[in-house]
Amino acid sequence: MRARLARRLFVLTFLLSPWSAHAAVQARPQPAAASEMPRVRLIATGGTISNKVGGRLTADELVALMPDVTRWAHPETEQFANLASGELTLGQWLALSKRIAALLDQDRDLAGVVVTSGTDTLEELAYFLDLSVRSDRPIIVAGSMRNPSTLGYEGAANLQDAFRVAAAPEARGRGVLVVLNDEINAAREVTKTDALRLNTFQSRAYGILGVVDADRVVFYRDVVKRHTAKSEFELAPVATLPRVDVLMVYQGAPGDLIKAAVDQGARGIVMATAGAGATSGTQDEGIAYATGKGVFVVITTRTGSGRIAARVRTGGPRGTSSAARSEYQIAGEDLAPIKARILLMLALTKTQDPTDIQRMFTEY
Ligand code: GLU
Repeated sequence: MRARLARRLFVLTFLLSPWSAHAAVQARPQPAAASEMPRVRLIATGGTISNKVGGRLTADELVALMPDVTRWAHPETEQFANLASGELTLGQWLALSKRIAALLDQDRDLAGVVVTSGTDTLEELAYFLDLSVRSDRPIIVAGSMRNPSTLGYEGAANLQDAFRVAAAPEARGRGVLVVLNDEINAAREVTKTDALRLNTFQSRAYGILGVVDADRVVFYRDVVKRHTAKSEFELAPVATLPRVDVLMVYQGAPGDLIKAAVDQGARGIVMATAGAGATSGTQDEGIAYATGKGVFVVITTRTGSGRIAARVRTGGPRGTSSAARSEYQIAGEDLAPIKARILLMLALTKTQDPTDIQRMFTEY
């Protein structure tokens, strides 16, 4: 009885073995060839993520920190600069935007681009790219709060998350994305809210666009404003960006700073007003001086969120005195002062028409 059972089991095993072996080979996940992986290009500009004591990490060294990245993407590298974010000039911003646009145009198979940046002005660079690179392929801006010489350096994790988002088909058409701390935020909405904490990048009232979790990249919503592929801004013919300054409203603030900016060549001024458009001190005189000379004054709020409504028929945005109102006074809608400054710089590369500029502030 036992012998017969053993013989049957032997025959069964013999019959099944070629099939089982074949099935096992079939089922085992094969590492995908590098050529099958979405190619993602890292363009490194510097920042804390690369600011190692004793010498900054290069783009190649940053990629080497992510041994697992080839599970999601085939990385390529390009060193654009290796500076703190605030050290990049507006000329370098222009060059970076043009470089990314040219790269995406020439390399049709490139899945996406990751840009590393210092975190201090990261949100400004991200919004500049959001408005100026006309492509629906993912452009991800990433950085870190701790440097590579610090315990708990989170740069490699943030960078790998950025590569994963850049390689994800779901990230297409969502504008420039900021990825840090496992979260995806929109360039238009995100701001650095804390000088030191790892969860510093927040979109306040708007919230995150998505998350980068262990299993997959998840999106929850879209930005409905115009950006990237739907942007009208074309930088190819632009050699320099016009000067636009940001000035804050505070109690008793002197308007002569606004006059000084105009006299120094500002083509636009963004006022970070109190509440929903209130000025103080002699600032209305400064605003009238600016608009009288055809310098655009964009009204935004210093509160961190909320909207400055475009004027209904005559007069400036609500809150400003009638003396200061002019067609050159533009309502900044819900853009943060530093984001409004970027939109105004780009707007002025295209038009000097107040109605057109106000339209841009409602569409972007
Ligand atoms: N936190 C700095 C920045 O935003 C980075 C410092 C550095 O890279 O030297 O760029």
